[in-house]
Amino acid sequence: MSSLFDFDKPAIYAVMGNPVSHSKSPRIHGLFAEQTGQRLQYTAIQVDPGGFEQAVRNFVANGGSGLNVTVPFKTNAWELVDSRTPRAALAGAVNTIEVQAQGVLHGDNTDGVGLVNDIVNNQGGAVANKSVLLLGAGGAARGVLSPLLEQGPAELVIANRTEDRAIGLARNFSKLGAVTGCGFDDLADRHFDLVINATSASLHGELPPLSGQLLAPGAWCYDMMYAATATPFMQWAERHGAAKISDGLGMLVEQAAESFVLWRKVRPQTATVIATLRAELQ
Ligand code: NDP
Repeated sequence: MSSLFDFDKPAIYAVMGNPVSHSKSPRIHGLFAEQTGQRLQYTAIQVDPGGFEQAVRNFVANGGSGLNVTVPFKTNAWELVDSRTPRAALAGAVNTIEVQAQGVLHGDNTDGVGLVNDIVNNQGGAVANKSVLLLGAGGAARGVLSPLLEQGPAELVIANRTEDRAIGLARNFSKLGAVTGCGFDDLADRHFDLVINATSASLHGELPPLSGQLLAPGAWCYDMMYAATATPFMQWAERHGAAKISDGLGMLVEQAAESFVLWRKVRPQTATVIATLRAELQ
């Protein structure tokens, strides 16, 4: 017999995007749920351009508890939500929505904390007092700026193909720390301890035009993209003597873990989930 409050039903979550069929989020949240004993259902929903708001309204009407949002709807999600965490407010992009009482939508952006947790907690690296170069000024770059600046880098330079976007972004975040923006040409004679690729160039098998002199001794190169084989940026890092090279799989799992904590109030262990996904990438 069903009751008014059917506590036996699993809570409903989903990721919305376009395209979304490749998304690893259903797999990651399925592993988190199994590990923490949480009952939930998590699916991937393909949404047509222009259809995001209606899709969210339908999801809420059908009893949905929370959403992840991916390309190209993170800005739409930011506009749609009723309230935002400070980091989401600053990022101008929302990748996590919690459906609260009476269907109120609360937005967060967990990409940046996911990146920082992967660098600092998983890989024992540091951002504090380091000279950091962030390549790209799109949604991913915006999302990671405030968590990166919170770590207290010695400097953070944003370099982008369209220089004005990097300069504008740096201006928006300048209250949070030492951040400047420039074009790739302005990087000649500069050296960095940590270079993070937040461009989508790797997705197309491309590489931003980077000078081979960029890397300081002991430099770490981190590509937000991940793949079974080294991305063009990771290959560039290898050729130019980076001491450490990482892809974005750890960031992906860590940003998902932050969403899971927001929704379920339980923190999943990420190491085994990263290892499982890594094995499944091969
Ligand atoms: P956007 O489309 O918002 O931004 C793309 C950025 O890449 C822009 O700065 C653009 O420059 C730049 N760019 C594109 N092509 C080139 C090229 N050939 N050479 C130089 N620069 C280029 O994308 P997102 O910011 O949303 O995503 C960026 C990357 O981050 C993707 O690979 C995505 O998969 C990854 N990502 C990974 C996550 C993870 O959890 N691991 C989370 C979120 C994103 P311009 O401004 O000049 O157009």
